[in-house]
Amino acid sequence: MTDPLAAVTSDPHRRHNALTDEWVLVSAGRTSRPWQGSREAAAGDARPRYDPACYLCPGNGRADGSVNPAYDGTFVFTNDFAALRPDSASGRVTDGLLVAEGEPGTCRVICYSPRHDLTMGALDQADVVRVIDVWADQTTELGSTFRWVQVFENRGEAMGASNPHPHGQIWAGTALPVEAAREDATQRRHHAATGHRLLLDYAVQEATGPRVVVENKDWLIVVPFWAVWPFETLVIARAPVGRLPELRAAQRASLAAALGELLGRCDRLFDSPFPYSMGWHQAPFGDGGQEHWQLHAHLYPPLLRSASIRKFMVGYELLAERQRDISPEEAARRLRDAGAGMAPAVDS
Ligand SMILES: [Zn+2]
Ligand SMILES: [Zn+2]
Repeated sequence: MTDPLAAVTSDPHRRHNALTDEWVLVSAGRTSRPWQGSREAAAGDARPRYDPACYLCPGNGRADGSVNPAYDGTFVFTNDFAALRPDSASGRVTDGLLVAEGEPGTCRVICYSPRHDLTMGALDQADVVRVIDVWADQTTELGSTFRWVQVFENRGEAMGASNPHPHGQIWAGTALPVEAAREDATQRRHHAATGHRLLLDYAVQEATGPRVVVENKDWLIVVPFWAVWPFETLVIARAPVGRLPELRAAQRASLAAALGELLGRCDRLFDSPFPYSMGWHQAPFGDGGQEHWQLHAHLYPPLLRSASIRKFMVGYELLAERQRDISPEEAARRLRDAGAGMAPAVDS
């Protein structure tokens, strides 16, 4: 008996959930990727500047047999264990209640620095600007082919980072993913009703309020009013900007300063390198006018009351609704009190 869905389900694809009307990305075969995250876990293990066993360090070999160049700034390559591939089947297939869509895309890795022992929070401001420039250039390039360009970083084993070398990722795909589609709809609705961008109005309302963590003239970082994770933060550009490539040089410099301050505060909060997932939400490509969409980044750290107490989304949160214990206002106060300054240079 032939499977009518097989035309797309043998490649990376999305499946529709008929019960919740959401989608799930299915990229089978990814679990064979190398895991170097546990190397980070050893207590008191100061990392070396160069690790001969790291597949991201300059000059080292990778799992697919290629060799990294002797790079001295940033280095971008296509993920050897990509969850999305450009040659995947496309289009939608249906079998009764079962709906699947092919999802052509690509996954790239960005090494922030040749130094194995650094983190984004410990990079010089000029080096962070160089990372922002790469995010922007990659967005322009991938946006010419794909609808959604997701720039993100997982830091720390707790967030599933498979290697402690400072690096981020970019996944670009054909569909508007679940989170992006939700935020697109709310921003579109607000813009249609008011003529304003939702997050610019939000930034004005939050400025000088109890949830502000870091601010400068171009950027506002708050623990959002509706935050779910204990120390979740939202980074908002204060002038109308849809995507990273639109940022002027001064906005990139002030972003590097704001991110450095935020990550420094996060590390100091529990005197420990703060695990997080951070990523940018920028206007989708190829959808016509994007005046409703405001560039912003989310930072989601899993820690609750200390470096060793993690928050899990289980029970009521998994089955009914997400829930938090400390208030967003208290979380913002603790991040402000944690003080700015340089983040620790090494995980230890
Ligand atoms: Zn390395
Ligand atoms: Zn968002």
